[in-house]
Amino acid sequence: MKENIIKNKIKLLKSQSGTHSPSIATILREIPEIEIKVDGCFLSNPYATELFFKYMKEELIDTGDIIRHLEFYPPQNYDVAKVLSSTINITPDKLFVGNGAIEVIQAMVHRFVKNKMVVIIPTFSSYYEFKKNDTQIVYYQLQKSNDYMLDPQDYVSFVTKEKPDTVVIINPNNPNGGYISKKDLIYIIESLNFVENIIIDESFVHFAFEDDSYEPVDLGTLVNKYSNLMIVKSMSKDFGIAGIRAGYGIMQPDKVQSLLKNGYLWNISGLAYYFFQTYSRPEFNEAYEKVRKRYIGETQTFLKELNEINGIKVYPSKANFALVELINGSYSFDFSMNMLANYGVYTRDCSDKIGLDGSFIRIASRNVEENRIIIESIKNTVEQQD
Ligand SMILES: *Cc1c(COP(=O)(O)O)cnc(C)c1O
Repeated sequence: MKENIIKNKIKLLKSQSGTHSPSIATILREIPEIEIKVDGCFLSNPYATELFFKYMKEELIDTGDIIRHLEFYPPQNYDVAKVLSSTINITPDKLFVGNGAIEVIQAMVHRFVKNKMVVIIPTFSSYYEFKKNDTQIVYYQLQKSNDYMLDPQDYVSFVTKEKPDTVVIINPNNPNGGYISKKDLIYIIESLNFVENIIIDESFVHFAFEDDSYEPVDLGTLVNKYSNLMIVKSMSKDFGIAGIRAGYGIMQPDKVQSLLKNGYLWNISGLAYYFFQTYSRPEFNEAYEKVRKRYIGETQTFLKELNEINGIKVYPSKANFALVELINGSYSFDFSMNMLANYGVYTRDCSDKIGLDGSFIRIASRNVEENRIIIESIKNTVEQQD
């Protein structure tokens, strides 16, 4: 059977890669017959991608205007900031636009972090991977007994004891989707006024909500009140446009200036600029709000259905994905490879994530049909391994 041939090839690759699992890139290169039907790794809103593509097709592709975006230089960083400014209600002097949030993170970590940074784990790895050699990283471990949710008081007392110059909080957190309420975050910010840089990464915040109306939650304007606060925002996940690389940071004007002095003149592509222009249009925003709320609703249904499957534990999430623990003794790499070989469903094996105690995969919510396939294939995979 095709699945067995694929599985044997994966096993062989695994035996050749020592103590680590082979990367998915290696697997796809070595085993071209693998077909990904549902990409449950990628954390984006598929309806938002469709929406933006509709605009792009009508306005750039069908009209041929796209050629201008290829031929000409895009506007400079500060001009892009001006376009974004009114959309998010932040003055342009407090905005640093990045070639993806990853560029903003890299710039901040290199430029503003000094001797010691507290990072909450499990986490998105770039914050500690990009550190300068002389920066010490101190990990704050989220507790499994608390479902990997942050306990604000405990966190504040940990940071108060460690006295770092920088702390990073991702809200909702990646890989578990744990959400800190606006009220708790303000308590944390107020309590950590001695910390020079408080970085809050809101890359998944458009999927979070505080009540059933799913109204957006956002802390951006708090930068006007707390001068040590810096916000990081990716557009990749909520707008489903990772390919055009768009993100931004909100921080004090002197910090923006300090970054711009080091380059980043034309770091935003023509297409990303077109996105920021589109984002500033009220009718696009209205349409986006609809697909955002629709996707949150569907994601919540998906998470509920996941929760009902025996043999796995789903951790509480207010993002568009869930951290899933395999409590039937399966190894996450084997489980995710079985899902791939048998059903073409690709999930994120979390065995490389520090701070997770057990066997975990992360599963993204996609469209309704794909979510149904994900649920069925997990049910079957759990049963086979019992
Ligand atoms: C994906 C991700 C980013 C990077 O986003 P890009 O805009 O694609 O560079 C930053 N922070 C977190 C927490 C992410 O998950």
